[in-house]
This record gives sequence, structure tokens and C-alpha cells, in this order.
Amino acid sequence: MNNKYLSFLKEIRSFIPEERIYTDEVRRLAWGTDAGFYRMIPEIVIRSDSEKEISRVLALAKSSHLPVTFRAAGTSLSGQAISDSILVVAGKHWEKYEILDEGKKIRLQPGIVGQRVNELLKPYGRKFAPDPASVKSAMVGGIVMNNASGMNCGTHANSDKMLLSAKIILADGTILDTGDEESKKRFAQENPHFLQRVEELRDQVRNNKELCERIRYKYAIKNVTGLNILPFVRQDDPFDIITHLMVGSEGTLAFLAEVTMNTEYDFPCKASAMLYFKEIKEACRAVVAMKKLINPEGQWIVKGAELLDKKSLASVNDKTGENLTAILAETKASSAEELRWNIRQIESCLQGFETFQPVHFTDKPEEYSKYWAIRSGIFPSVGGTRKSGTTCLIEDVAFHIEDLPEATADLQALIARHGYEDACIYGHALEGNYHFIINQSFSSAEEVRRYESLMNDVKGLVVDKYDGSLKAEHGTGRNMAPFVRYEWGDEAFAVMKAVKELFDPDNLLNPGVIFNDDPECHIKNFKPLPLTHPLIDRCIECGFCEVNCLTCGFSLSSRQRIVIRREIARLKHTGEDNARLEQLEKGYRYLGNETCAGDGLCSLSCPMHINTGDLTHVIRQLSLPKGSLGYRAGDFAANHFAGIKNGLRPVLTLADTAHALLGTTAMSAITKEMHSLLHVPLWTPAMPKAYRVPKNLEKSQPEVKEKVVYFPSCIN
Ligand SMILES: Cc1cc2nc3c(=O)[nH]c(=O)nc-3n(C[C@H](O)[C@H](O)[C@H](O)COP(=O)(O)OP(=O)(O)OC[C@H]3O[C@@H](n4cnc5c(N)ncnc54)[C@H](O)[C@@H]3O)c2cc1C
Ligand code: SF4
Ligand code: SF4
Repeated sequence: MNNKYLSFLKEIRSFIPEERIYTDEVRRLAWGTDAGFYRMIPEIVIRSDSEKEISRVLALAKSSHLPVTFRAAGTSLSGQAISDSILVVAGKHWEKYEILDEGKKIRLQPGIVGQRVNELLKPYGRKFAPDPASVKSAMVGGIVMNNASGMNCGTHANSDKMLLSAKIILADGTILDTGDEESKKRFAQENPHFLQRVEELRDQVRNNKELCERIRYKYAIKNVTGLNILPFVRQDDPFDIITHLMVGSEGTLAFLAEVTMNTEYDFPCKASAMLYFKEIKEACRAVVAMKKLINPEGQWIVKGAELLDKKSLASVNDKTGENLTAILAETKASSAEELRWNIRQIESCLQGFETFQPVHFTDKPEEYSKYWAIRSGIFPSVGGTRKSGTTCLIEDVAFHIEDLPEATADLQALIARHGYEDACIYGHALEGNYHFIINQSFSSAEEVRRYESLMNDVKGLVVDKYDGSLKAEHGTGRNMAPFVRYEWGDEAFAVMKAVKELFDPDNLLNPGVIFNDDPECHIKNFKPLPLTHPLIDRCIECGFCEVNCLTCGFSLSSRQRIVIRREIARLKHTGEDNARLEQLEKGYRYLGNETCAGDGLCSLSCPMHINTGDLTHVIRQLSLPKGSLGYRAGDFAANHFAGIKNGLRPVLTLADTAHALLGTTAMSAITKEMHSLLHVPLWTPAMPKAYRVPKNLEKSQPEVKEKVVYFPSCIN
């Protein structure tokens, strides 16, 4: 760590407690890893917990000229939540919310997981509109800052459309709440030039008719390439423009401390149909026709239409779909009667198309959930069967709906031409938005060139031929940064640059993301994925397991354990840096191994069903071979548990008495010392008192056949 970082560290230690600052090898690598295929290791990781703290960190970073990157759940795919400088994590301590106006609006801090917001809104019959497939893990900060979207929200209900106001912290530490008149007044008084520049940019865009049209055209479909410049066309008030510029800015303009958003009505009645077509173009033509169906209230009748190409269907062993293309269509309504009416409209529309089987919509959850399981099984299936050591890449592009049939067929042919045999195309056809998954190795220069050549051709197809979006949902990151100007053209790019210069004149907020002067930044800093252990080799580092991992935020999460094991395996294999290897191995002992509860809860939300606890068991077995002293001690304890338990009671009583006499501070200091010198278990104030179930209570329990084993806390 150089002197600049050392003095920054010294300063932040004066107002951030040590346990929320990480500088060790293990946690820098662990927190520096996101779901994308790039790797950067931060110098310092800060687990932030308040606006005031962030404001001070940013002001200090500015005066020290040090770059800062923010992170929520770290599920980003394009290399935008990683840093080689300071990484500020805003997850766990940022989960406050306020439900407003009977659930029609909601105020949220950035660390709340999207699915949790849906649970909060459910009693009001409302939902959080942005719906990325990662919504069970992704957090509000990441969802808004990536302008993440999914199957239903399209462009009509994405973060840009639902956002009402935002509390932001600018690069110099200034806090602005665009939902608070006082805050706006203060900001206007103290920063008149900032607002003036926003108005100048607005007028410059509006006076250029051609540019306005281009902006409207580009955002008629999903687009997250570059900064979001739609606010200059849609919003008049400079504070509203500032608010909406945040959407999709990937942490390059400011820190997002709070948002107030509209919510969406959650239709109670749903029906889906899996429609099979012999030709992919015919399937797309059917989607184009379905998109035109409108009900008397002017709303779309078809709420979702997911395309699954033949490779996608093969990946999930869909026998019906062999060599076919499927469209999984969904309609929603307020009542059963309205739902039936919707289905009749769609059936009548589809009569003009050649479907492989008769059209059949089902409103039975047990039936349609099978269709959706096929859809959500594609990614884990492709990722799970990839060759070891390759990365499972998901790209996401969008075309205008009228171009869909031709563009889809072209995209399929292009990927095949590049020899990606197992690549699948699937996604939100109703929005013209496709994902394609490829299993890519970056282990040789030849493979890197192959990927580069694919991306160049994708650029040619999406931009030159169809004027579509190179990134529709997943953010520009480092992956598309070299192509922003190419996709948007000079004028629009200049506006984006001017916004960046206004908000972040020193280029300290997430530098290299969205704007990057290196034309090859998308083929650098690849994350190594070495073979490590068959139990975890399929891991794609998506981070979906972290919501369930008991130790996420305490020591390491399940994903982070895998990341460290991989790096240990790589360093052992290459012999590249033995000192670092030693530090990782040493650090992993407590953070990775000893604190893992081995319960396997992480596997519940893992698309690959990986149980990191199993890996922990293997590591523990290896470190305690049969016959060793530790093994024999454990064996003895297991076979004499009642006696051991009784023996432990006096120890706990002694600890409790000592705590009462010495107080928490002295007791912590003494036991910490004993722990490091004698390796006795570490005492914490949360340690339970010895407890014995009263005999009369034991006897008063009725005899029951079924027994329940209740673990009141983590069994570790
Ligand atoms: C399997 C899989 C499926 C996915 N499916 C989708 C999908 O369907 N649609 C989609 O859009 N995306 C998808 N993603 C990508 C990703 O999950 C989403 O974009 C998600 O919204 C990112 O949220 P996060 O909380 O993980 O944010 P992070 O990855 O932590 O951060 C995202 C960006 O926001 C910035 N940021 C985070 N918090 C703040 C803050 N408080 N202030 C300022 N900047 C901040 C970060 O610097 C970063 O640039 C998928 C990812 C995976 C792994
Ligand atoms: S263990 Fe599973 S959920 Fe966790 S990062 Fe790996 S693939 Fe994703
Ligand atoms: S087994 Fe370990 S990694 Fe998995 S949830 Fe439990 S503590 Fe986390």
C-alpha cells in the first residue's frame, strides 16, 4: 500500500471503527469480487454505515485524490462493482424503508434486497417494479444504479420511470436530497454554477432536434450503454434531471443514499403458455403481433414473452422443444374474467401463426411454474455443464421490436459462425432484449482474441445494422465502455462526458467504468477461474448464495469462501507468490474455515446447488485425519456428549461470574489475550449462561411420537 493510501487509512480510522475497515489479503480479494468476469483487488474495503460517514470518506478521497467505487450486493456482470483503489460497501447497514401512500410509493435505503421490497409491498397488492432475474439478491442501490430490469418492467416501469426523488452524496461530500425543499434551497444557494450547468446541458440537448429524436429513439427500447441522458429530454426541473441522471450511472456520478419510488400494481390473476415454433423468425413475428394487443384501458395484454432458442431448450432437456424455438408468454389481470378475456385475445392473435402444438394457456400455478422452471433453468444448466476453467458469460443486447425476426436470426447465425457450439439465446423478446450465454476461456491469447472478435461482430450487428443497444440491462461497466461513443455517436457521447465532468471533475468515482480511454479495457483484467475442488468448480460467483449465508458480513460469505479457495489453488499451482499464498491460507483458517457453520443454507439459493458447507467439511476432514489427536478428541466428544455438556456448565457459569465481576471491557481484553496465547475459545458478551431444564418441566412434557430438534442458534 503506498503512502497516499496509508495516510487515507490513518484518517478514516479516526471516524470508522476498525472492524469495518479491511486491508488484509483475504477480505480485500473477497469483497473485491463481483459476479462479472473481471478481477480487481481493492487496497481498502470500507463497510460503510451512515451518510455522514460516506460524506467524510468522499471528501477525504477527493483531497487525497484517491478513486472510490461503491458496491451493493456485487451481482453485477459487466465489471462495474470492482476497484483497485477504495471499495465502499453499502449493504447491511443500509436497509431502512418507509412505506408511503398505502404502498403506492416507497422510500428505500440502498442496501435492501429487491425481493424484500416485494415482500414489504405484498400486503398492499403492490410490487417493486424493476425486476432483474437477480432480484432475490440484488439490492436497491445496485438495481437503480444499473437501471436493472427484467421480464416485466421493460422501459415503462424501470427505475427511471418509477423514481421520484433521491438523496445523493456528491464527490466532494455534499449531501443533496431532491425530495426535500430545504436541502434543494441550500444546494441552490451553495452550488449555483452546478445547477446552471445542468440547465445549460438541458437546453443544449433540447435545441438540437436531431439529438432529441435520437435520444427518444434509443430509449424506446432498453438501453444502459453509457450514462442515462433521457432526463434532459423528459425532465424540466434541474433537480429532477439530477435525480434521474443517477439511474444507470453505475456509481460514477455520486453515492445513492436513499430513493423514493412509485410502486406497481401487482395483478393477482396470471396465466402462461409455452408456445413452440419450428422457425425462430416465426416465433419472433408472433411476439411482434402479441405486443400490439392492447386492452380497453390502453394497457398491454401480454405482459411477458420470453424466447428460448433450440440450444436453450436442449440445455434444459426439453424433449418437446427438440430443434424448436419456444415463446413463454404471460398475461395478467385483476380478475379471472379479465384473464379469460385476455387469453381469448391472444389465442385469436396466434391463429395467424404456425405453432408446433395447439396454444394452451394455464392459470394453474402448479402447471405454469413448470414452464418458468424451464426458463430459469437455462442459465444454471449452461453454466453447470461448461468446461472446467471456462467462464459463463451472459451478454445482453436489445433490438427495436420491428427488427426482431431478422435480428434474432442474424444473432443466432453470428454466434454459430464464431464456433460457440453450446451458446444459447434467450430472453425478453417482448422488449427485443436477448441474453446470450457463452462459455468462454480466457486462458490463452487465442481465446481472448476469439472473444474480442465475437464482440466486434456483435457491435457491427447490433449498432451498424439495427441501431440497437449493446447493453440493455446489465450496465456498461468495463465490458462496453470502449463502445459507448460508437453506439451513441459523438454528440450524445459529448453530453455524457459533460455530465461526468460536472459531477466528478477529478474522475474519482468508479473510474474506468462507462468511460474508459483504453480501447482494450474489455479484454483486460480477466478473473482467473482455476480448478479447485469438484464441489465448487461449477460456481459462477454470482453471489446468489450470500442472502442465505449465515456468516456473510461477519467473516466471509459462501461465494467469498469459494473465491479465496480458488486463489489459493491458483497460487499453489503457479507458485507465483508464496508470501501471498501464505497470507491467504492463514487468513482463511478463521474467516473461511472456522466460522463456516457447515449448515449448507447457501445451497438453497444457489442456481448450481453448490453447498459450500460440504467444502468446509472436506477441508476440516483433511486437517484432522483419522487417528490424529484432534480427530480422537472430536470422536470422544461425540460419543460422550451428555457428560461433556455437563462438564461445560461450570465453565460457562465461571465465565458469567467473571463477566459480572470484571465488566465487558476487561473481560474481552483478558479473554482475547488468552485466546491468542493459549488458543482457548474466544469469549464474547453474547456467550450464553449455563442453563439446566428444570426437572419438573422435563417431566411435564407430554409423550409425543414425533420429535423436533430445535437449534436455537448457529450450532458453531
Ligand atoms: C445470474 C444473474 C442474473 C442477472 N440478471 C439480471 C437481469 O435480469 N437484469 C439486470 O438488469 N441485471 C441482471 N443481473 C445483473 C445484476 O444482478 C443487476 O444489475 C443488479 O441490479 C445489481 O445489483 P447489486 O446490488 O448486485 O449491485 P452491485 O453489483 O453491487 O452494484 C451495481 C452498480 O451500482 C453501483 N452502486 C451500488 N450501490 C451504490 C450506491 N449506494 N451508490 C452509488 N452507486 C452504487 C456500483 O458501483 C455498481 O456500479 C444478473 C446477474 C446475475 C449474476
Ligand atoms: S456458490 Fe452458487 S450462488 Fe454462490 S456464487 Fe457460486 S454459483 Fe453463485
Ligand atoms: S455452510 Fe458456510 S458458507 Fe454455507 S451458508 Fe453456512 S456458513 Fe455460509
